[in-house]
Amino acid sequence: MEKKQSLCPVSKKCGGCQFVDMPYKEQLKKKQQQAEQLLKEFGKVEKIIGMEEPAHYRNKVHAVFDFQKGKGIVSGIYQEKSHRVVPIESCLLENEKADEIIRSVRELAKSFKYKAYDEDSGYGLLRHVLVRVGHATGEIMVVLVLGSPILPSKNHFVKELCKLYPEITTILINVNSKRTSMVLGEKEQVIFGKGYIEDGLCGRRFRISAKSFYQVNSVQTEVLYQKAISYAALTGKETVVDAYCGIGTIALAAAGQAKKVIGVELNKDAVRDAVTNAKINRIKNADFYLNDAGRFLTQMAEAGESVDVVFLDPPRSGSTEEFLDALLRISPKRVVYISCEPETLARDLRYLTGKSSYRVQEIAPVDMFPFTENIEAVCFLSRK
Ligand code: SAH
Repeated sequence: MEKKQSLCPVSKKCGGCQFVDMPYKEQLKKKQQQAEQLLKEFGKVEKIIGMEEPAHYRNKVHAVFDFQKGKGIVSGIYQEKSHRVVPIESCLLENEKADEIIRSVRELAKSFKYKAYDEDSGYGLLRHVLVRVGHATGEIMVVLVLGSPILPSKNHFVKELCKLYPEITTILINVNSKRTSMVLGEKEQVIFGKGYIEDGLCGRRFRISAKSFYQVNSVQTEVLYQKAISYAALTGKETVVDAYCGIGTIALAAAGQAKKVIGVELNKDAVRDAVTNAKINRIKNADFYLNDAGRFLTQMAEAGESVDVVFLDPPRSGSTEEFLDALLRISPKRVVYISCEPETLARDLRYLTGKSSYRVQEIAPVDMFPFTENIEAVCFLSRK
């Protein structure tokens, strides 16, 4: 029997879509089972909320550039667990306009005679391209990541790219000359527009800088946040902490229903965005702090501050004992834990419930990453 062709010609090499050729319903079933396996010891796991149109959900798209014999300049992805570049034209997950822009940057690079950066020798210029699309606004950011700071014929290049895509509202150069697997370097220069894009989410407007974290699946982010905020059962009287707050999305979406919201975040660009976002939305009861979430919460506990609700949305590694200890000391009535890694969620829930002061009330998986095995879940705990 002939084997059915995969939806994606490079899925084996890329490895990013573990479920690429599985019907979406089955993907959801599988994630449901996995979420239950990891989390059922804490309580009932609700039915996973999937997408109606699961393809092309990623609003942030990254391509690595390379020079390959016989092909010339190529753009694509790293082969799984390696630094070999697999050329691609389009991707099932990525925003299609973003993919189109990346292809055009590659063609323009040829005519402008830009060389692709070579990771082994450190020679060459164009290293990565990052495109961010505002789901609600359609604003588009293009970041050209270069191995050195000078882009020859910069103005001409900007003009040509913007002529092709009038929806591009800003272009930046980011300089990354280090031998690292990090895409973005420290130094950044705006060469067109404002240097950030804005997007709409949960009825608010958000400014997003190149280096700030922003959820990649906007449609499901609204579902996730609505769920999270409904768990908080806000009445307008609460003091709320949004830990690992990024650009302040959860805090600002909840601010209208709380007395005060306090966000804490370690990335300085994200905190700057969060402060601006409060202003853009005319929200006066929100404060944002640049700090480690664990250290910040410990300081709050030591100062004897009273908090009613804590949202936490840590990176994949989960939270820390320092943070969770401070949380137990502050002892808010409600805790809403948003997690993109059920294993660390389970570890942290074990810590919180093991000290017997919290009970898990509800666990709701939301499919933020169709075609991949990643599971996102929001968990609501209440003080006993
Ligand atoms: N809640 C936000 C961001 C979640 S991603 C949203 O939904 O958009 C996790 C965030 O945690 C990132 O912005 C990252 O910069 C931040 N972060 C990572 N380690 C941290 C730490 N130790 N203390 C505070 N923030 C941290």
